[in-house]
Amino acid sequence: VTPFNPPLSMTQPVFRFAPSPNGRLHLGHALSALVNFERAQAAGGRFLLRFEDIDTERCRPEYEAAIREDLAWLGIGFEEPVRRQSEHFDAYRAALAVLGARGLLVRSFATRREIATAAAQAAAAGAPWPLDPDGVPLFPGDAALLTAAEMDRRAATGEPAATRLAMQAAIAAAGAIAATPLAWTETGEGPGGETGTVAARPEAFGDVVLARKETPTSYHLSVVVDDALQGVTHVVRGADLFAATAVHRLLQVLLGLPAPVYHHHRLVLGPDGRKLAKSNRDTSLADLRAGGATPADIRRMVGLEL
Ligand code: GLU
Repeated sequence: VTPFNPPLSMTQPVFRFAPSPNGRLHLGHALSALVNFERAQAAGGRFLLRFEDIDTERCRPEYEAAIREDLAWLGIGFEEPVRRQSEHFDAYRAALAVLGARGLLVRSFATRREIATAAAQAAAAGAPWPLDPDGVPLFPGDAALLTAAEMDRRAATGEPAATRLAMQAAIAAAGAIAATPLAWTETGEGPGGETGTVAARPEAFGDVVLARKETPTSYHLSVVVDDALQGVTHVVRGADLFAATAVHRLLQVLLGLPAPVYHHHRLVLGPDGRKLAKSNRDTSLADLRAGGATPADIRRMVGLEL
């Protein structure tokens, strides 16, 4: 019997840092990139950079160059070539087609604004609208928002539609595929201290968008497809994406993709106690650097040991 000896690349851990090039990196990204890179090094693994630029309106090449510059300054090296999601829309379309063939997709004409308006009206009438873990009003189905005539009109005039995952059907389909309940291995922790084997509850997100009106994919779909295509074994990212991991696990099961190990780290909060945004200029690495900060100062500012 010949023992199975997988090539080194199959056993070597693969980590990735996956920013969107739609602004300068800030302290929150620095923590994420540093924790990622250091865990990859400690594990003897590979480290990839991936540009999540499906929003082609807001993402720009100059931000890609700036991200490369910021990472180099922090002493973080990564493999080339760097995957750019906007060059792989066909891969996401193919994954979508697999879900579509199983009858797990719904077309939706409702706009975000229409959903938000309905939610606000319901709340004003004393009936609070359910929110997803990110605080976004849940999608109730086009039929709850639009008249049949309006849905027909939008279909007839070829108005762009979003493609959503039919969540209940998707959960049932995943249950038929996997022998064990949907879960993931967490080596960091969620906002409530969740760690170890974490039960995935994708239903909390409702019928999530998998392809936007103007883009043939969404964050959830492309992140899952790319992590699998790039052989990512370890996903290290901020705790703001902890809840979304449930959706990612569901898609992985439905698409027959392997499950990486997840490590969610604490977020770097601004002085106001809120999550940093790319618009907070005072915390961008470029501005801190211009103001004389060193990489060691950045490590201190994000609470890492020197
Ligand atoms: N592109 C995402 C962001 O910049 C990160 C995606 C991920 O790590 O899964 O927030």
